[in-house]
Amino acid sequence: MYNAILLDKNEDGSTNARLTQLDEAQLPADGDVTVRIDYSTINFKDGLAITGKSPVVRKWPMVPGIDGAGEVLSSSHPDWKAGDAFVLNGWGVGEVHMGCLAQRARLKGDWLIRRPPGMSARSAMAIGTAGYTAMLCVMALQDHGVGSDSGEILVTGASGGVGSVAVALLAAAGYRVVASSGKLDEADYLTSLGAAEVIDRSQLSAAGKPLQKERWAGVVDSVGSHTLVNALAQVRYGGAVAACGLAQGLDLPGSVAPFILRGVSLLGIDSVMAPRARREEAWRRLAQELRPEALERITTEIGLAEVLPHAADILQGKVRGRLVVDVSR
Ligand code: NDP
Repeated sequence: MYNAILLDKNEDGSTNARLTQLDEAQLPADGDVTVRIDYSTINFKDGLAITGKSPVVRKWPMVPGIDGAGEVLSSSHPDWKAGDAFVLNGWGVGEVHMGCLAQRARLKGDWLIRRPPGMSARSAMAIGTAGYTAMLCVMALQDHGVGSDSGEILVTGASGGVGSVAVALLAAAGYRVVASSGKLDEADYLTSLGAAEVIDRSQLSAAGKPLQKERWAGVVDSVGSHTLVNALAQVRYGGAVAACGLAQGLDLPGSVAPFILRGVSLLGIDSVMAPRARREEAWRRLAQELRPEALERITTEIGLAEVLPHAADILQGKVRGRLVVDVSR
């Protein structure tokens, strides 16, 4: 038997979430690697799944948890053997395949990434999908030619998981980072991660003009909606926005003016189905470039029993940084 968070659908369509014990016989048959999860995490998407606020879960019952890190227990996949350390992000895990907010999981070997040498399961989950997505955003901006000498970078949703890791990564790489946040009382936290300036997110969150004063060489946006549209309207000629999130909204209520008059690029970032080579590159770089002291500052640890209340908090933007889950308690 092992401990797990389990989601069921109530008759009225709402989601019932509980901490329970499952039998190993209940592990999904469509997997070729059985793993012990040591740490998992709560991402924004896990918050949506656990509260049922959005139709993230498409198969019931479901163990949520889109991220996991631990050790392989047994495997029929040629690349994995007992004792191997892995990290798992996405691929529909916690959505259509039993997830990692549990002490055991059965996954597909093709989905697993070898944990970079020296990176603990706890650190890997402190990074999690949010941190790995922040790195995908940084990589996309750099592929576009946005370097540390190109100008200022705006990070929106800065005190959240994606935002905090993006601020830390960009600052460590020598960029001048401006953090947009609704938590101005967390300005010290953001400057301790390397932000040169913290601005109030209300400057970006309401409808604005299609073209505004040019300021940013690049933007990492985890917020969407008016914030993304205003960020686009403030990007300098030829710059780019890496867009990965929807914390404010799924809508994009803007104009094409920044694209056709300033050559601005909107770079879409998806972590769930990102190709393996891109994931491996992101994790290799995270191991090298994310300073351990910054990661520790970003991280709050909780046990499996504390997951349910925190799932609601993350949707309300109350969580600072990243929540890492020790599934053994
Ligand atoms: P968090 O909840 O940790 O962070 C989101 C942050 O956005 C909050 O902390 C808050 O920061 C800000 N925010 C929240 N609500 C609003 C609002 N109404 N208006 C403006 N800003 C708001 O979530 P994550 O960092 O884990 O994820 C961020 C987004 O990225 C989510 O939408 C998530 O679904 C998406 N995502 C997408 C991925 C992909 O593959 N494309 C992968 C990972 C995440 P502050 O208080 O500092 O303003």
